[in-house]
Amino acid sequence: MTFGPPLRMQINVAALAGNWRLLAEKTGPATCAGVVKADAYGLGVEIAVPALAGAGCATFFVATPAEGIEVRALAPDAAIYVLDGLLGAIADYATHQLRPVLGSPDALTAWCAFRDTLNSDAGRHNLVAALHVDTGMNRLGLTMAEAIAIAAETDTVNGANRAGIGLLMSHFACADTPNHPLNLSQIDRFAAVRGLFPALPGSLANSAGIFLRPEAHHDQVRPGIALYGGASHPAATLANVVSAQARIVQIRSAPSGESVGYGATQFLKRDSRLAIVAAGYGDGYPRAAGSGDDRPGASVAIGGHIAPLAGRVSMDLIAVNVTDLPENAVQVGAYAELFGPTIAIDDVARHAGTIGYELLTNLSRRAVREVIAEGENAQ
Ligand SMILES: *Cc1c(COP(=O)(O)O)cnc(C)c1O
Repeated sequence: MTFGPPLRMQINVAALAGNWRLLAEKTGPATCAGVVKADAYGLGVEIAVPALAGAGCATFFVATPAEGIEVRALAPDAAIYVLDGLLGAIADYATHQLRPVLGSPDALTAWCAFRDTLNSDAGRHNLVAALHVDTGMNRLGLTMAEAIAIAAETDTVNGANRAGIGLLMSHFACADTPNHPLNLSQIDRFAAVRGLFPALPGSLANSAGIFLRPEAHHDQVRPGIALYGGASHPAATLANVVSAQARIVQIRSAPSGESVGYGATQFLKRDSRLAIVAAGYGDGYPRAAGSGDDRPGASVAIGGHIAPLAGRVSMDLIAVNVTDLPENAVQVGAYAELFGPTIAIDDVARHAGTIGYELLTNLSRRAVREVIAEGENAQ
């Protein structure tokens, strides 16, 4: 019997670096940034940032200043953008050289005022920001009318660049649905926005946006999920990076006709063997991925064999029906893959009515992260 953590996330840093290089090559001469918000989508910034920086990534996007400060410690020379804009103490942006993504006239005014308080050109030179224009998502960003008004001012961006804007950006709402008509209108609107700010480099594409068409690339692309091996676009074939595994804590037999788990949602149609695995919704494994007589749940992989969940997901445990697996393939103490090279993360997510992004960021709570080199086998 092996002794490892009940739940672990193995992260293949060579595959992560390889995915970044692949996207960078595909989008060159645009530069390729790395989106590492939410602790690098649950992988851990302390693992993801050095791997990406080692591959050549020199620009990172995070959501909050606290995340930016963490990334700064790992990437002293990188450009770090804070997507949620100006939050918390504005001085932190100067202290840690974080670049806010400004998406409202008020934020732009506050940023200009802050820059004006610095009395040296050198100090101001280091205070860079991005300007975010909304092109159809209605989340963050200036409206088109606000962008037009700002473009006409001579002392903020196009003239004196008192705001120190170094990047013009927008964000796709539907890039993962390649034929959605909103994609083309956002591409067109962003081209128009760039016309308003001719001196600024532009950035529009997230992972899925990269695969839409080259007109979406502009000067910088911002992939997140594709770096980590999640599904982004039907044409994207990137390497698996994460393998989430939980240990089998018990193997039991249960007779035909009995039910499994809370609520007795699933009845066994034959004498069965069940493996009880140490992961549940308390670990971020989605409760909605459970199985019932009315609908099948997600599957796990044990020794490369695929086996379906039986019954509901508990807080700390799932039951897996291993009746069809070779007896010697299922051992107490062995790991079951929840998602990874055999079980696609997006398959599990689909069973739970969610997306790979949510699964990745949730599962991180109790999982012990282990870095592996490419090709190294689990266990
Ligand atoms: C999260 C995010 C990204 C990365 O999106 P993916 O779909 O994970 O590639 C890029 N840009 C913005 C503004 C984001 O919020």
